Amino acid sequence: MTQYRKPVPMPDHVTAEFWSATKRHELLIQRCRDCGSHQFFPQSCCRACLSERSGWLRATGKGKIYSYTVVHRPPSQRFQDDVPYTVALVELDEGVRMLSNIVGIEAHKVRVDMAVEVVFEHISPEISLPKFRPAETS
Ligand code: ZN
Repeated sequence: MTQYRKPVPMPDHVTAEFWSATKRHELLIQRCRDCGSHQFFPQSCCRACLSERSGWLRATGKGKIYSYTVVHRPPSQRFQDDVPYTVALVELDEGVRMLSNIVGIEAHKVRVDMAVEVVFEHISPEISLPKFRPAETS
């Protein structure tokens, strides 16, 4: 593997379980044990009721594109080889929205409401990034 040169997530005590799961190719979201709300990105308390009693729910990894943009001008030299690339807000079936990239499809073919599913990009021994590709139709 070539050296990964882009910014890398830094797991902390709140997000460590999430990043540990992505290494296993599992996508976790938080589920509040008091009010049942789902949330992403992981936080130390529930945004709906402020409870600190959250658990983890394994998401299906399926969802749809809520919104997206295509990046043509790299934000830094480290993204030069990636342009054009798609940054999307993906709404998971569990109701939370996740900012990620759409891969496996040319940027100009991406559409709002397109069905997508998670894939994991292994970038280092510690981190796999969740990204999304067009869902297999069955
Ligand atoms: Zn709650």
